[in-house]
Amino acid sequence: MNDLNHTNNTETADSQASDTTHFGYETVSGQEKVERVMGVFSSVASQYDIMNDLMSGGMHRSWKRCMIAKAAIGAGSWVLDVAAGSGDIAIGLANKMGSAGRVVLTDLNGPMLLEGARRIIDAGLLPGRADCIQSDGTKLAFDDNSFDCVTIAFGIRNFLDIEAGLAEFYRVLKPGGQFMCLEFSRPVLPGLDVIYDAFSFNIIPLIGEKVTGDRASYQYLVESIRRFPDQQRFSKLIANAGFELVKHDNMSGGIVALHRGYKV
Ligand code: SAM
Repeated sequence: MNDLNHTNNTETADSQASDTTHFGYETVSGQEKVERVMGVFSSVASQYDIMNDLMSGGMHRSWKRCMIAKAAIGAGSWVLDVAAGSGDIAIGLANKMGSAGRVVLTDLNGPMLLEGARRIIDAGLLPGRADCIQSDGTKLAFDDNSFDCVTIAFGIRNFLDIEAGLAEFYRVLKPGGQFMCLEFSRPVLPGLDVIYDAFSFNIIPLIGEKVTGDRASYQYLVESIRRFPDQQRFSKLIANAGFELVKHDNMSGGIVALHRGYKV
């Protein structure tokens, strides 16, 4: 595992020591964070898709459609979808590119990547249009300048080291390539934060408990969203990694934001 002693700079304010980080609202070692994040996704993998629908009221589908629509890809593009999970983004991108394009799904978690593999088979993308490769998003198993587009949806807030991930996305992108990140962010509509907090902290862990029997994983989900940098801070991290023309579009009043940047 890469860089386990590195403290994520978005989380330094109340970390107790340089080798600690956060798992939701708990202070833990880097090693423990990685293990517990993997535990969360191993636990939820088989019910991940249904939980997404229940927790977002189906909204995650339109957030993802919007991301796919804005991807600067076409026939012949090579795309990397990091933290691909069950493959919604990768499948959408593959369908957008058609038979000449190729998408690589990568994820650190075996059970989640297996869900993605099942779905790309069902989508008829094998052989030739999609691959699954297990790899840490902060230590990608790909050569420099390999992809026309690198995407990540709802994955980066789980990384131990967000900056290491962004540096890797920059490294594997071809010059001229596009980086896109869909992630939970900060509500910008007046009053929305109060409703959103009430829903997130009271309802989401309850749905998790009833449907999966695993309340703790969904409590982590909610807390990890609150710990993630807001739109402006995340834009700065993306620019610091070397990306240019960095911008973001809020969705659902800022509950989710789509950040984009380019390797010029
Ligand atoms: N992208 C999918 C989607 O939008 O539905 C899945 C998102 S799921 C909330 C987060 C994913 O991030 C999980 O599949 C998890 O295994 C993966 N993940 C967490 N830490 C990772 C890391 N360091 N490297 C690669 N993937 C990671």
